[in-house]
Amino acid sequence: MSHDNPLLADDALPAFSQIRPEQVEPAIETILADYRAGIAALTAPGAPRDFATVMLTQERLEQRLARAWAPVSHLHSVADNEALRKVYGPAEEALTDHAIELGQNRDLYAAVQALADAADFATLPRPERALVHHALRDFKLSGVALEEPARSRYREIGVELSKLSTEFSNAVLDASEAWHEHITDERDLTGVPESGLAVLRQYAEDQDLDGYLVTLKQPSVQAVLTYADNRGLRERVYWAYQTRASDQGPNAGKFDNSARIEKIMALRHEAAQLLGFPTAAEESLATKMAGSPAEVLEFLHDLAKRAKPVAQRELATLREFAHTELKLDNLESWDVGYASEKLRQQQYALDEEQLKPYFPLPAVIEGLFGLTTQLYGIALAARDGVDVWHPDVRYYDVRDAAGRVFAGAYVDLYARNGKRGGAWMDVCRARFDDGANRQLPVAFLTCNFAPPTEGKPALLTHDDVLTLFHEFGHGLHHLLTEIALPSIGGIDGVEWDAVELPSQFMENFGWNRQALDLFAKHYQTGEKLPDELFQRMLAARHFHAGLFLVRQLEFALFDFLLHLEYDPAQGARTLAVLEQVRKQVAVLHPPAWQRFPHGFSHIFAGGYAAGYYSYLWAELLSADAFSAFEEHAGKNGSVIDRSTGERFRREFLAVGASRPALESFVAFRGRKPQPEALLRSHGLA
Ligand SMILES: [Zn+2]
Repeated sequence: MSHDNPLLADDALPAFSQIRPEQVEPAIETILADYRAGIAALTAPGAPRDFATVMLTQERLEQRLARAWAPVSHLHSVADNEALRKVYGPAEEALTDHAIELGQNRDLYAAVQALADAADFATLPRPERALVHHALRDFKLSGVALEEPARSRYREIGVELSKLSTEFSNAVLDASEAWHEHITDERDLTGVPESGLAVLRQYAEDQDLDGYLVTLKQPSVQAVLTYADNRGLRERVYWAYQTRASDQGPNAGKFDNSARIEKIMALRHEAAQLLGFPTAAEESLATKMAGSPAEVLEFLHDLAKRAKPVAQRELATLREFAHTELKLDNLESWDVGYASEKLRQQQYALDEEQLKPYFPLPAVIEGLFGLTTQLYGIALAARDGVDVWHPDVRYYDVRDAAGRVFAGAYVDLYARNGKRGGAWMDVCRARFDDGANRQLPVAFLTCNFAPPTEGKPALLTHDDVLTLFHEFGHGLHHLLTEIALPSIGGIDGVEWDAVELPSQFMENFGWNRQALDLFAKHYQTGEKLPDELFQRMLAARHFHAGLFLVRQLEFALFDFLLHLEYDPAQGARTLAVLEQVRKQVAVLHPPAWQRFPHGFSHIFAGGYAAGYYSYLWAELLSADAFSAFEEHAGKNGSVIDRSTGERFRREFLAVGASRPALESFVAFRGRKPQPEALLRSHGLA
């Protein structure tokens, strides 16, 4: 009986303890069948073409699916087991097929288009019009608006591209696994700290070897290139790592991604042109805040102009240091990370262990909640008795100034078995109101901090604190939304290069003295974070900021120009474009055999194609938004200001994707974004 299946219940919160793997398939099957029937009814000849019928019905059907799927996919991430994994894969596939089917539904597209074409469309409220525009844009980007034979060709390209991107990342993976170096004499690893050695010992143990195994996995590469005194080893690791899946290096030609890059670029260009865009770069910008390629390039070049001289100075200092202190006369690519770390230690001697006693988790949480109360007038209060998936999980009601509950959040902070690593915010329930039913927003906030130990609270590193603030920022974007149409509420539908604004914005408080004073107190003595330590934290934050920025700019420009300047007559010209970019922005020039693009999965196998610039773009937005609070502090002494907070909430957090992010930003800031605050936050002002 369907009503025995908790995944089909319409309760405000999922009944986690009642969910069984065997309920997943029947629930999804029932919901998808009803979903199809619902779409068929709304697209049937003679069905009304009004907002409620066409759009609210879709939102309602989607929410029913989300109510079942959100807890299942969450459990898969945080409380996984074999039985769940077995049903999860097929169910996920069914959902993907269903989403593709919807995106290709020409009748549905026609129904939405009819709504937009109707005489009274302009009289609809703005969020409703935005929802229609978003839907039409997505239909167009899915190729459904094309006529034959273009439509079939577009679909074919989609299939081919998804195959190529899988092959690309598999080649990177295979190349990474194909190389390792077995080390039995610990002296060959002098300089690598115990935590790094433990990782290398584990790799050896996994292969039934004694001693250490240096591999191309991230922690191993990191440990060797940053710490190993053995220059030859550093060079071999760099050589193997920076030539993965290419025509160079120890496995030259074996996993080579060169031909795949050519094919991917050609197909992306063809697909973009089928949709009516001049290049894949313009297609990418259709879902982003940046208005044109010129705007992206101007943004990147402007940053480069300011960051490059700083990077050059930093490099000169590093060379001098390497020469006099480390006796390294030619600073090679495999020396840079190593020499930087030595210089950093000499200048700041900042140790995470020194800071951790000032960041006991319960106090950090309390401080974070206190900060949000001061900024937005909201309060989070733990509620007992909520059905959760693990005893460590806490549920919080979010109340407005009048004490009314308007949202909720599950907070799950400690690492444990069966829980995926990393930190993230996910949607449990979206704000929705169709006139008949009201659903309040609920978030999942997940981290993987080291749990408390005997007699000691969990102590966070400063990075952990920033991570928590970051994810909580995403959470606030979701929880504080006032848009009751889930597809454009909270984080949903927000331009891709602006969606990290609220999260990175919150990180700024983790670097601010006034905010830190809310929670950074020694867990034993209650002493505030000493100013001397805080100043060293700030200085270390800006260490090699110029070098960091020019490297990010190199990646971003390479990615963007590769897509923008693609010419079918000449092919991708991957290495030529990279060389051209390096001439403009880089201060370090790697050896000619380096093949960084061949392992650049972000853009060839991930979602960052012609979008890598978004990292810096969002950082500029968040720094500039935060500077409004700093300006207030300049006048009135406090960065934690309610009126600025209310304005940020009203103009940015509350509106979701109901209007363009640029408009929201300008409404909050009173002007367009400017780079000064970003440069200041990197110590480059
Ligand atoms: Zn984020």
